[in-house]
Amino acid sequence: MIFAANFKTNHTRASTKEYMQKLEELSQEVENPLYVFPPLTALDRFDSSKLVIGAQNAYPIQNGAVTGEVGVDQLAEFDIETILIGHSERREILGESQEEVAKKFAFFKEHGFTIIYCIGEPLEVRQSGEEALKEYLFAQLDGIDLEYNKLIVAYEPIWAIGTGVSATVEDITSTHQLLKKVIKAPLLYGGSAKLANIKEIAAIDEVDGVLVGSASLDATNFFEMIQASKA
Ligand code: PEP
Repeated sequence: MIFAANFKTNHTRASTKEYMQKLEELSQEVENPLYVFPPLTALDRFDSSKLVIGAQNAYPIQNGAVTGEVGVDQLAEFDIETILIGHSERREILGESQEEVAKKFAFFKEHGFTIIYCIGEPLEVRQSGEEALKEYLFAQLDGIDLEYNKLIVAYEPIWAIGTGVSATVEDITSTHQLLKKVIKAPLLYGGSAKLANIKEIAAIDEVDGVLVGSASLDATNFFEMIQASKA
């Protein structure tokens, strides 16, 4: 199982440092690397062997004049070579189009980054039936190189993100089955994954890992999820 923690706009530089120390201490026996995406202001070099630190976002530029953004130079300072692209909050709140997302993907692929690429549908699409769902999700793969060897995909239904109510095992299973027809990369589930449901999510054959928001904010709770997924 791959575990990834997305802090979004939570944690400070100081609390991120404490978090990394704690998670590193707890995770000595964990086999797979753990991905952690702190806010950009908290990026740093952390003393860790188990944790892979990634950027929640960056602009597709080496450096230059893009006020408020960071590029490859700023990430390279901390050896960051992992990035989240296509998260629904960036698509919905910040209006990132598929064209922009695909451009960002191509740029960071060109720079050899590991990319966790997010897709997911709003509730009205889910309620419109299987064909609508397929069309919506596959459109989010437009312009994305699914053969990229450092690609991880995260399926995150928007209606399950931050709501406390995860998609059902049936919905996750059928959607991952659909996606796995075209995606050979590891496929994560995201959307209110937490201690109470991680065991049943992890037991789904088509789930290769989870991208966790709220439930990842406490290092001990996140670690307990990792442990519970194996039980
Ligand atoms: C996310 O936004 O990536 C996410 C999965 O959030 P949460 O776990 O809080 O639903």
